[in-house]
Amino acid sequence: MSKSKLGWSLLIVLSLTCDISTAQAPQKPVVLATASMIADMAKQIAGDNVIIECIVPIGGDPHIYDPTPGDAQMIGKADLILRNGLTFEGWLNELIENSGGNAEVITVTDGIDPIASSVYDNAVDPHAWMDANRGLTYAKNIYEAIALLIPAQKTMLTQNYEAYLEQLRNTDRYIMEQIMTIPADRRVLITSHDAFQYYGRRYGLQLESVLGTSTDADVQTSDIVRLNKVIRAKKVPALFVESTINPKLLEQLASDNDIRVGGSLYADSLGDEDSPAPTYLAMLRHNTDVIVAALNRTLTDDTAHNAGEKPIAKDRNWTYLLLGGILLLVAIIAYFKFAT
Ligand SMILES: [Zn+2]
Repeated sequence: MSKSKLGWSLLIVLSLTCDISTAQAPQKPVVLATASMIADMAKQIAGDNVIIECIVPIGGDPHIYDPTPGDAQMIGKADLILRNGLTFEGWLNELIENSGGNAEVITVTDGIDPIASSVYDNAVDPHAWMDANRGLTYAKNIYEAIALLIPAQKTMLTQNYEAYLEQLRNTDRYIMEQIMTIPADRRVLITSHDAFQYYGRRYGLQLESVLGTSTDADVQTSDIVRLNKVIRAKKVPALFVESTINPKLLEQLASDNDIRVGGSLYADSLGDEDSPAPTYLAMLRHNTDVIVAALNRTLTDDTAHNAGEKPIAKDRNWTYLLLGGILLLVAIIAYFKFAT
């Protein structure tokens, strides 16, 4: 065979091979999660066997999300939609109705006993993922839904799922142990909005927030007065801002009470790849580490507060010196009076 003939034959074989592989590549099912925490859990369980997309982008606020035409297209193409439910995604039903898709919609909190909203009557608190123990239910619902979608890969899915459950249990234990290191009277968590009730109940923290369980409420003066009282009464050393909420109000509250902002917590969204919270489990651990470090500091640990306390200590020292001097003088006078 001549060189050019060989070349052509190779080209034909190669192009045939490519055509065959393209034609045979099965289209991966598309799983669409509403929020980044749910998308990450699906990714940990399904690996590369499905395409996972997320509606609310990293750093976005799912409570007040405004869907785009691109979201309707994504819904139209999705095979499975994973939503939190419990009033978290008020915008979702209308989006699904308008998208014309026929995806299965799964509520990943099914089976969770929800906490009542601390602010709204007859409403539930959506933030159940903040409790790693409840995260087990999320994982179970996600695993079962994806297993129905790709039954041929069930063995691999089950292995991933069981490994993930183990990591969730370890994280749950870690949080429990870490929170226990904070002195009991200082286990008070003040945040922007009420996203930590499930976390607080599971791990033993009293919760206070400026906003309610959603982020679209207006701040009332009475809320600020209440928080000022709590900070003073409990000698709370720090409060916490959130990655998806403007920190201004909390920073003002910290400044007014001369306490510190203990750090930024992630609640309604993961952080990006370079953040300390790129996954659901990393988010829970990061939040815990930030909370524990800040609440384990006493007010007197802070330089600012030390500066305020030093003059009092100095005044006391002078008083003791003066008293000592007077006593010494009395003793000397008495000695000379009785000696002469
Ligand atoms: Zn929230």
